[in-house]
Amino acid sequence: MIIDVHVHLGWDYTFDEDFTREELLEKMHLYDVDVQIVQPGTCHTLAQVQAQHDAIARLCREYPGRFYGMANPSPHLSEGEYRAEIARCVGELGFVGIKLHPLAHGVSPASQAGRRAFAAAREHGVPLMVHTGAGTPFAGPVQLISLAQEYADVKIIMAHCGHIILSYESATVLALCPNVYGDTSWTPGYQLKHWCRDYGPRFMLGTDHADNAGTELAKIRTVGLTPEEQEGFLWRTAQEVFWLPIGPQAR
Ligand SMILES: [Zn+2]
Repeated sequence: MIIDVHVHLGWDYTFDEDFTREELLEKMHLYDVDVQIVQPGTCHTLAQVQAQHDAIARLCREYPGRFYGMANPSPHLSEGEYRAEIARCVGELGFVGIKLHPLAHGVSPASQAGRRAFAAAREHGVPLMVHTGAGTPFAGPVQLISLAQEYADVKIIMAHCGHIILSYESATVLALCPNVYGDTSWTPGYQLKHWCRDYGPRFMLGTDHADNAGTELAKIRTVGLTPEEQEGFLWRTAQEVFWLPIGPQAR
């Protein structure tokens, strides 16, 4: 079983990258990825993000049990628009998580706008993924410590675990906040190996870009993790965090 928790579909209006469904489907077949949790590219208007959320929902309906959605409206929309779009995604479209991107949306996690994402995750009982790494100071992993403690009932996933440059901050967050997890994308393999032994199985496969799928899978399989540790990275931790209705009935 392989679950990829960090996947995009749609045009990214901040990074000028087009994430296509063909790439996601090709990856599924090339690398035997069973489940992908799909979020939009960075959008700035409500209309842009609603169109991308709808496209993700169509993909999920077309491939039941293989794709799930993660909502990412800009926290700089009005509070009413933001809350209503999250409610639509989780309540009507069946999305399983929320994303907050401090760099792409120019938002500090602890700001009024940033806190909307934490409050929404709590309200809807879904995990919150937060981009960490490039984009300091807003994207520094340590920004999450006070919020993770305040929202101790919310499962928070550090996307990229601080990339490489801020990865040592991620270790501090993991040590202090048991409700914080990490995805593997762009994260050094040796650190993932040490962290899963120091802080427990709190890491899950994230590719971020379909091009990374082979690399990320090879990293997990070749850095010296035991078969049981690899299982944690490949699907078990993701399943414990997201509680996806997966299994033979969903294939
Ligand atoms: Zn991403």
